[in-house]
Parts: sequence; structure tokens; C-alpha cells
Amino acid sequence: MNAPSPQAFVPFVSVANMMRLVHAIGIERFMTDLVEEIEADFRRWPLFDKTPRVASHSDVGVIELMPTSDGETYGFKYVNGHPSNMRRGLQTVTAFGLLADVGTGYPLLLSEMTILTALRTAATSAMAAKWLAPKGADCMALIGNGAQAEFQALAFGAVCGVTEVRLYDIDPAATAKCARNLAGRGLRVVSCASAEEAILGAQIVTTVTADKQYATILTDNMLGAGVHLNAVGGDCPGKTELHRDILLRSEIFVEYPPQTRIEGEIQQLPPEHPVRELWQVIAGQAPGRQSAAEVTLFDSVGFAIEDFSALRYVRRKLAETGLAEQLDMIADPDDPRDLFGMVMRAA
Ligand code: NAD
Repeated sequence: MNAPSPQAFVPFVSVANMMRLVHAIGIERFMTDLVEEIEADFRRWPLFDKTPRVASHSDVGVIELMPTSDGETYGFKYVNGHPSNMRRGLQTVTAFGLLADVGTGYPLLLSEMTILTALRTAATSAMAAKWLAPKGADCMALIGNGAQAEFQALAFGAVCGVTEVRLYDIDPAATAKCARNLAGRGLRVVSCASAEEAILGAQIVTTVTADKQYATILTDNMLGAGVHLNAVGGDCPGKTELHRDILLRSEIFVEYPPQTRIEGEIQQLPPEHPVRELWQVIAGQAPGRQSAAEVTLFDSVGFAIEDFSALRYVRRKLAETGLAEQLDMIADPDDPRDLFGMVMRAA
């Protein structure tokens, strides 16, 4: 029987190893590193292959594939979104992803991405706020206290200098869980009884709820001038968080317009409504916040390049930590044309 060649083995990052990696690096450091990694790729945005993600919808959720390539490396993520899962004791969002060598098509890395998605989503949110939030913003409302919430809070603390987080969730148990997890992590945590109370004094408002409907987590009359909105939970057709009137008085920033027009808050607006692309702000090609009174909105849906950046970061860190298993995943006979012979010799 042929011995598999080294390139036939694909490094695999399990959930256990991803958690070890987070602890080895430190969770805040992991997310500040990801901000640098994602910013570097946003600066070279035009050279990536881009497409809106490929979605398969059902009554209860969506399953999506998110591919991209920079010409040297290809990546994709498999991700689902099932708001009703939580009631069955399951995650709303799970994911895994892969990097491959464009030169050979051989995979370079397979990784869990449920945890990595929470880290990269929080890093992307904090990166957007770094460019768009009002100067000196140190208080954030965090509405929706589920699986993503603590990651968001810690990223805003580490990247944007947020010191107070005001929590609200329709389920008080979620808020209690979030407050417990954030205790002793350097943030002042205030649990609130309503969204109105949570946004009191907050210069940044993050919405990260899960509900498969046109929800209205915030209405226009709740928001004062100058806030930065980080709308994370509206990421699917028919699934939004903000009242349309908020959109009409906000400067809206998006990842990839063809995808966000389908999935983001702006699905509520006509397709010609102006938006700015976050990569252009980061690359110095479009203005970010232009006045203290402006309401800025990052209409986050999550884009493939963020996952690509995160996977590349993890791959680099494996070289330092060795936190991967080797998967016998690619059939690679010594004689490339003798695939059949390899199978028969295995008898
Ligand atoms: P989750 O199910 O763990 O948590 C969602 C929380 O929202 C729950 O605690 C629920 O009680 C709360 N909630 C629902 N309706 C609410 C309301 N009206 N007001 C206040 N709270 C409410 O889900 P999660 O994994 O934390 O994900 C949250 C959302 O973020 C999902 O919609 C998911 O699809 C989205 N998401 C977006 C990105 C992105 O890149 N933009 C990435 C990951 C997840």
C-alpha cells in the first residue's frame, strides 16, 4: 500500500484545539490580531474573487457557503443560521471552513469555525467602529446577549476603548449569563430591563439578536444624534433588526454591497440607496464619520474575506503552537494516474 504523501495530510483544527489556541494567544489579543489581519485584506479588496454567499433557505433557517480567493489561496466557510435552534439546545450559528492552495487545489487547512466566526464577527464589528464611532466613545449598548455577545463586548473593549457595556435581551437568563461571563474582564457591566434603558448614554449600539422576521429592536425615536450602530443580527432575507426610519437618517457602511442588499438591514431600502463600502474607508478611498452629530450604521452581514483572513491567521499560528491534527483527507497515490491501483492495494 502507498504511504500517503505529506501533502495528502491536511491540518485540522478541532473545537478543542481552537479553544486551546484562544487561551494560548489570549482572547482580546486574538481579536486585535484579527482586526489587523482583516484590515490588511480590506486594503487589497479589489484583488479578491467576490460573490454574494450561496444560500439555501428553509422555513426555519439558512445554510450558506462563503467562497473567496486572493489568487494564491482559496477559502470557503460553511455556515448556518437557525434562530429556533437555541430552543432545542443547539447553536443558532455553526460553521467550519477550509483554505486551499490555488496552484494545486490541495487543501491547506480545515478548521472548526463556530468559535472562529464569533471571534471574527466581533473583530470586524470593532474594526468598523474604530473607523466610524464618535471620538472617545466608551459606552456600548449590547442588545441580544446570546452566543456572540461576550465576544462583541471584549472586542470593543480591546479595540475601541469601550469601558461600559449595557446589556439587554428579551430573555433575562441570557443577560445574566452574559453579565456572569464578562465579570472581572475589565468592563463595567450594567444589566438593563429594556432596550431603551440599555441605550441610555451609549455612543455605540450593537444589536446582535436572532429572530427570523423583520424585527424592530430599535425605533428611530430611541436614538439620539451621533451614535454608531453596529447591526449584526440582521443577516438574511426577511431577518432585520432596525426600523427603516433609522436607516433613512444614517450614513450606511457595508461589507460587499451585492450581498448586503440581499441580506442586510438595507434590504428594506431601494437598491439605489447610497451606501459606502467599509474597505474603501479603510483604504482611504471614502470618508468615514464626517461629523460628531452623524448617525453611522455598520450594516454587518459577514463576508467571506473576513473568514479568509481569520483562517490564514489561524494557519500561521499553528506553525507556532502545533495545535492541529493531521487528517488523511486527500487521496494521493504515488502514481497520480493509479488511483484505482491504490484502492485495490488497500485490500
Ligand atoms: P443566539 O441565538 O445565541 O442569541 C440571540 C439572542 O437574541 C438570544 O439570547 C435571544 O433571546 C435574543 N433576542 C431575540 N429577539 C430579541 C429582541 N427582540 N430583543 C432583545 N433580544 C432578543 O444567536 P447568536 O449566535 O448570538 O447570533 C445572534 C445573531 O447574529 C444571529 O441573528 C446571527 O445570525 C447573527 N450573526 C451575524 C454575523 C455577522 O457577521 N453579521 C455573524 C454571526 C452571527
